[in-house]
Amino acid sequence: MNPLFNDSSITVAIVGCGGFIGCHLLDAILTRTQWRVFGVDLDFYRIQHRLSNERCEFMVADLADKSVVERIAKYPVVVNLAAICTPSRYMAEASEVIRSNYDHPASLAEACAKSGSWLIHFSTSEVYGRTSADSGLLVEDETELTFGPVSASRWSYATAKLLTERYIAGLKNLKWTVVRPFNFVGPYMDFMPGVDGSGIPRVLANFSSALVRGEPLKLVNGGTAKRSFTSVFDAIEFLFALFETGKMGRVSAALGAATEVSKLPFSQAFNVGNPDNEITIAELAHKMRKIFAEIKGVSLESIPEPEKISGVEYYGKGYDDSMRRLPSVEKAERLLGFKAQTPIDVVLRESLTWFVMHYGFPNH
Ligand code: UDP
Repeated sequence: MNPLFNDSSITVAIVGCGGFIGCHLLDAILTRTQWRVFGVDLDFYRIQHRLSNERCEFMVADLADKSVVERIAKYPVVVNLAAICTPSRYMAEASEVIRSNYDHPASLAEACAKSGSWLIHFSTSEVYGRTSADSGLLVEDETELTFGPVSASRWSYATAKLLTERYIAGLKNLKWTVVRPFNFVGPYMDFMPGVDGSGIPRVLANFSSALVRGEPLKLVNGGTAKRSFTSVFDAIEFLFALFETGKMGRVSAALGAATEVSKLPFSQAFNVGNPDNEITIAELAHKMRKIFAEIKGVSLESIPEPEKISGVEYYGKGYDDSMRRLPSVEKAERLLGFKAQTPIDVVLRESLTWFVMHYGFPNH
């Protein structure tokens, strides 16, 4: 085993430990390393089986509590995954979305700057904003970031996330890395409306819910927007590449040569995505219907046809969209040697199979 992974003196603080990405990160740390985890969240249902693990300490809290923020920042590596990140809430609860995605992470960043912790902050690919259908590769340090008018409250989330990135980058003495996820999908993503959550989850969970209920998939504005879907397991590989390259934040003090400094993952924002998995939402609907028919052992014709719906009708006033989100992944490959590997069909089959096993078929 890599000696870094064997080092039982390392504790990683994971904020949002019970969430979709957090639960997979926790599993990976506990199975692949000897590290300890300090996990903070409001909800632990995804990680019930880990609650009594002797290498873990968990706390029910959020970043609104300053004393919790101070406590988290005592650990040398802090991964912040906590956020309101459900698009349907960006319109209805814009102020709350901004507090969650700017005020809280900003105070965590200040505390980490004081304590000297390495903050790995999860931002979003949505910081690239209102991209058009002919947008090309989105490059971390080059692409213009463009948002719609204030009346298009869809951009409340992206604007807050971007402000947090700028704040983090401007804080003196903060050792930071920003991660911009491109539509991570996999087991435990979001929720099933009416079962363990309410409102509209992101597209994969929403399509999965409709399929198991025998309802038509809804194609917002015709389903012409494109996304590059990325396996959450690839995202965890990215984090491990980051941990290794940053040697859990310890290497910087010992560094000499400037050439080595340029290879470090600090003071960098990284796209984490899979450009090979780019598809339109209409294509996603087709693939998911096909895979679902196979899992259920029925014909494709027996699965309802998708229906088109306008974005405002579906999500409410203020909805707007990014038409294409294609990540440049050159930087992560160059600095960390990381490249996402899992093809779209594998990601979708794995996610949908998990969904069906987890929630069953409510109509049966
Ligand atoms: N979408 C859709 N039907 C749904 C849910 C989402 O057509 O039931 C579309 C949505 O309008 C967007 C894309 O799918 O174009 C991805 O939406 P998601 O909510 O997953 O998150 P986003 O990538 O926009 O942050």
